[in-house]
Amino acid sequence: MTLKSIELIGFKSFGKKSPLSFSTPITCIVGPNGSGKSNIVEAIRFVLGEQSMKSLRGKGGVDLIFKGSKNLSTSNRASVIITFDNSQKIFSFTNSGIGVSLDYDEVTIGREVFTDGANRYLINGTEVRLKDVVDLLASVNIGSTGHHIISQGEADRVLNASNKDRRSMIEDALGLKIYQYRIKESERKLDKTVLNMKEVQMLRREIAPHLSFLKKQVEKVEKARSLREDLRNLYKIYLGNESTYINSEGARINSLRLELDKKALSIDEKINGLEKEKNGNSIESENIKIIKEKESNLSGLRGKRDELARSLGRMEGIIEGIERQYSKIRDVKERIIKESEWKSLVEDLESKIDEAINFEDLESVKGILKNIKEKLGLFLHHGMDSEAELPKIEDNAEYLEMCKAKENIIGEISQVKIEEGNILNAINELKAKEQESQSVLRDNERVYYELLSNRNEVSSSLHSLSFEEEKLAAIKTNFEMELAEGGAIIGREVIDFAKIKIEEEIVRSTQEEIRRKIERIKIKLEDSGSGGDATSITKEYDETVERDTFLGRELEDLNKSIESLHTLIEELKETLDKEFKEGVDKINKQFQEFFALMFGGGSASLSITMEYKKVRKDDEIVSEEDMEDDEEEEEEVATDESNQEFERGIEINVNLPHKKVKDLHMLSGGERSLTSIALLFAVSQVNPPPFLVLDETDAALDEANSRKYGDMLLNLSKYSQLIVVTHNRETMSRAQVLYGVTMSSEGASKLLSIHLEDASVYAK
Ligand code: ATP
Repeated sequence: MTLKSIELIGFKSFGKKSPLSFSTPITCIVGPNGSGKSNIVEAIRFVLGEQSMKSLRGKGGVDLIFKGSKNLSTSNRASVIITFDNSQKIFSFTNSGIGVSLDYDEVTIGREVFTDGANRYLINGTEVRLKDVVDLLASVNIGSTGHHIISQGEADRVLNASNKDRRSMIEDALGLKIYQYRIKESERKLDKTVLNMKEVQMLRREIAPHLSFLKKQVEKVEKARSLREDLRNLYKIYLGNESTYINSEGARINSLRLELDKKALSIDEKINGLEKEKNGNSIESENIKIIKEKESNLSGLRGKRDELARSLGRMEGIIEGIERQYSKIRDVKERIIKESEWKSLVEDLESKIDEAINFEDLESVKGILKNIKEKLGLFLHHGMDSEAELPKIEDNAEYLEMCKAKENIIGEISQVKIEEGNILNAINELKAKEQESQSVLRDNERVYYELLSNRNEVSSSLHSLSFEEEKLAAIKTNFEMELAEGGAIIGREVIDFAKIKIEEEIVRSTQEEIRRKIERIKIKLEDSGSGGDATSITKEYDETVERDTFLGRELEDLNKSIESLHTLIEELKETLDKEFKEGVDKINKQFQEFFALMFGGGSASLSITMEYKKVRKDDEIVSEEDMEDDEEEEEEVATDESNQEFERGIEINVNLPHKKVKDLHMLSGGERSLTSIALLFAVSQVNPPPFLVLDETDAALDEANSRKYGDMLLNLSKYSQLIVVTHNRETMSRAQVLYGVTMSSEGASKLLSIHLEDASVYAK
């Protein structure tokens, strides 16, 4: 790899575009004091990413911009472009995989600084970060310590540097910076990872109480869900039973009411009928009236009969008196025949004799005669006993009249008796009838009271039925309330109760038991306080668990990467340590050789020291942008011994021939330069940098040493491209190309290139 060219535009004294090409192993830049030679070296530092303004001899970016002159105007920016050969494709990015193609035969790096101090970096024309430039250069062993650019007056820089800085320079020169860089990167990553881990741990700690809260909430939600499930089942049974009960009970009550109403109506009708009948019967019965009438008739008849009996008595007295008179007459013995008697006999006998005269036969006449004889005998006899001749009672007219009257009265009496008997019979008959009707009435009364009691029963049944109806209505209201409440808690599916069929009898106490259970669950549900939206809580819980799991995994990953970073850092440190020791050993060989060559003897070596590490005051993590200033920042130290680590340093040990001086400070300027050059060349030999810029490193050398220096340059140019700023003719004579720098009349640096053949002439 070679440095092909550099182009300065508006950089410091280079007001105009000034290209320099480096096509030969040694290029010398020569010119009078103040012409701008060192500005070229600084341009190289600048474009390679130098951040120290001190190294660029300025206070700020604006000092790097061409300030203008009498004839030339001020530039608005300073720009430097450096071009490397990349035909071997050795350039690469180690860390930053930026979108810049390196697949070209050349790689250009550009840097611009503006009046406001802002910087712009470019790789192959594409704007990049400083980090990318550093990274890219690291891949071709151009380190950030600038060990390959020795500025004016810096010839003994390596001697002045601290052990630690020297180590850093050596590491850089040995190409070990990449390890340091990687270690730093890894440590930075480690710090970041640890910080991340702490953050993750904090986040996890932060969500832990929320998670446990949510877990409890979810458990509550789950419990509420199961309670609601229980409630749904209970509701199904309860409401099903209740609705069936209400329906059947309603039907039963209705039919019972109908039946009772009918019964009441019929009883009322009967009662009314009976009451009417009773009212009718309260008027005195017709029968009794007739009986009373008949009884008065009867008593009239009895009075009449008594009258008649008295009349009869009087008449019998009269008759008895008459008869007594006539019984006294009987005692007179003379008989008297009654005219009627004898006249009837005579008439009878005359008729018989007339009959016998008419008869021819004797017999018949005899019979008639016999009969006449009989009749005459009878008359005679009869006439003998008869008292006819006595005054007969029967002939008493009064007597007869009395007897007749008596007979009449007797007849009348018997007539009255008959009548009396008839009336009595009638009365008895009526009384029997009345009695009968009275017993019917009594029966009716009994029925009436029975009916009344039945009616009462019906009324009380109706009353208790009303009570039952009220109870059922209350049950119904309750049912509807439960249904509404159930709907609110469980949702529409609560009406599923209608789907279940209930066959068995519904026991109220069981229902009551279920209802109490429902109430208990409702209270539990309320207590469970699942007020929040279940789905959102579950969602939040799931999300939080997911987040916690994610954080847990991340923590695991972070732990793993912390572990692997530790391992990596350890490995890198080991490798660095090993290569550093090997590198120092190699350098020592060369150093000794160059030193002896320069001083014509003596010895020099590098030794590795162990020193307390300077620890940063604050353990903060440095951002990538700060990276370049690390070395300077590390000047800030803390002296807390307990927290101290050892770190390596490099010490230079010299032993001048014929001298006892060992302290570097006690060397002369030339000796310092020689030692420094010997070390620089030794290092460059061990790990040749692509190019080496030497700005008047030879300033302090005498003629003899200048020759030795020139020889060494030639030797070194086999390994590295050399750009040498010098006033030394010996040095100039080793170059193939000379660049002459002059300050033009316009007040800007001007370039003039002189080729090999001319160079040697110019050198002389
Ligand atoms: P010497 O041989 O004495 O070391 P040199 O050739 O190395 O000199 P430089 O140090 O490179 O000279 O150049 C310094 C010159 O550059 C000074 O004259 C200074 O005025 C000029 N210069 C520095 N910065 C600027 C700038 N921003 N604009 C214009 N000129 C500048």
